[in-house]
Amino acid sequence: MTITPPPAGSDPAIPGADETGTEVVRLDLTGRTALVTGAGSGIGRACAVRLAHAGARLVLVDRDAAVRDLAGDLGATAVVADLSDPDAIDSLDGGCDVLVNNAGLQHVASLPDFPPDRFAHIQRVMVEAPFRLIRRALPDMYAGGWGRIVNISSVHGLRASPFKAAYVAAKHGLEGLSKTVALEAAPHGVTSNCVNPGYVRTPLVEGQIADQAAAHGIAESEVIEQILLTRSAMKRLIEPAEVAELVAYLCSPVAGFITGTSLTLDGGWTAS
Ligand code: NAD
Repeated sequence: MTITPPPAGSDPAIPGADETGTEVVRLDLTGRTALVTGAGSGIGRACAVRLAHAGARLVLVDRDAAVRDLAGDLGATAVVADLSDPDAIDSLDGGCDVLVNNAGLQHVASLPDFPPDRFAHIQRVMVEAPFRLIRRALPDMYAGGWGRIVNISSVHGLRASPFKAAYVAAKHGLEGLSKTVALEAAPHGVTSNCVNPGYVRTPLVEGQIADQAAAHGIAESEVIEQILLTRSAMKRLIEPAEVAELVAYLCSPVAGFITGTSLTLDGGWTAS
């Protein structure tokens, strides 16, 4: 069977189709407000920079006051807040068109040794805070008939690893929250998705690599290949900017039908 492509630029369902019929992803967020949590470092910082390039007005939230420097560079609003504190979240102006729930942290310990208060803290930052931010953002998104929620999950939202009980539980919880939001918000033009990276080259992971190299007496490159990436087909870390590209794509007009799903950037980890 021969499939005849539609005449150039004729398909209104492809907002980016140009006069040659080539689909062009137009990522123009001019006039949109994007709130990014954990924007002071790593993936959140890369997302902030990418969304600023797309023209979004940015609100950058982090507990680390250094986020003010990035906000200054990007002409953004900085909010220094601890997302483990519900009152701090409730005092935010949560109105936005794009919400990137990114703030997170890790704690590595065996289950008998896992401190319960650390477990609870991680759930507050990585599940409860996204829930609170989403419920504050949705009324404005519904009113405008458009919205994008991107939850930075992890391969650990889909797979477990030993010694990471709080992190794995939180990321699995975030997956469930994201899907529920997708079902409720779809009639209002709002999408909700998870992005699931493997190991990303951020300060968080670079510190882990240095610690492991010292502990095992091996080179950092060996830590990456032999310890971190044993289950990844691609033996390299992902760069934060690569994650930010996918986040930006999910915010674009052509991604309007993508909702309730989890998009891996894991170098083949979950393929096996
Ligand atoms: P990072 O440590 O470089 O950045 C995390 C940011 O979150 C920091 O700026 C930190 O100050 C902020 N933050 C932490 N707790 C906070 C709180 N209570 N209130 C406000 N801000 C807080 O880490 P990253 O690697 O960029 O991680 C970002 C997200 O990506 C996390 O959700 C993490 O789970 C996820 N992720 C990271 C990797 C990786 O390999 N680095 C892989 C998969 C998923």
